[in-house]
Amino acid sequence: MRLARPIALAASAVLMMSLAACGEDEGGSGLEAPIAEEPNVEEGSKAAELASQDTITIGVKTDQPGIGFLEPGADVPTGFDIEVAKYIAGQLGFSPDQIEWEETVSDNREPFLQQGTVDLVVASYSITDERRDVVGQAGPYYVTGQQLLVREEDKENITGPDDLKDVSVCSVTGSTSLETVEEEYGAVAKPFDTYSACVRQLQNETVDAVTTDGAILLGYAAQDPDNLEVVGEPFSEERYGVGYFPPDDTATCQFIVDAINSMYDDGYWADAFEATLGESGVETPEPPEPDACS
Ligand code: GLU
Repeated sequence: MRLARPIALAASAVLMMSLAACGEDEGGSGLEAPIAEEPNVEEGSKAAELASQDTITIGVKTDQPGIGFLEPGADVPTGFDIEVAKYIAGQLGFSPDQIEWEETVSDNREPFLQQGTVDLVVASYSITDERRDVVGQAGPYYVTGQQLLVREEDKENITGPDDLKDVSVCSVTGSTSLETVEEEYGAVAKPFDTYSACVRQLQNETVDAVTTDGAILLGYAAQDPDNLEVVGEPFSEERYGVGYFPPDDTATCQFIVDAINSMYDDGYWADAFEATLGESGVETPEPPEPDACS
């Protein structure tokens, strides 16, 4: 356990690379996020409150390979979101062993933030106006788009969202993916709690397609490449943000945006991408510019 320490209000954070070996039990990828000795947080902000805690609880997905994934038997999840979370926690002064990982599914991200079950959410969490009405979302730190995952034998029949009319399509309750496919493309939507449950439905032929962000689907296709294929072009824009609470805490939003920009500048973002989503053969993109906090 980390000892409680006073909040430092340094104009510029003094960064120290973690000397601790970051093995499988501490953060998965082996990448070591810098850890701020004196987090640059504004007094009275949620970020300052978090920096004074002994540990930080971060809500992440645990069934999305490449993004947020917990190997059976492992203590710590791996993936791009996990690296982003490790970096932001590092800017708040936390080492990987001071992070408590909490599984979130698509539908409980807002309530988990509102109720304080988690301090932050880094969980393939698209920024939307509706969500920004009830929680804060800083970013984006990554942009992807909704696509389709089908069984290999259907890849000529289902090639894009216009082929979905009356097709049974699985997606997740509380996701932007489910809303888009139901409202815009007339699919017979089958809502489940997680995308891994959807993929099982596709494999056992209970549904004929799964839809969500391409980045998520690529991870599942890579797990069963003989049987599953991602088809068509992206048909939405999903801008991943970091969830925090309360939404009007501009200083905390700015703290997270500064951390995201610092991750771009020092190369951690690109290294993290290559070590996670990049493993499936996707080229490292240009990082997106975060929205202004206001
Ligand atoms: N990014 C989309 C969303 O936040 C879909 C992925 C997910 O459900 O996590 O709704």
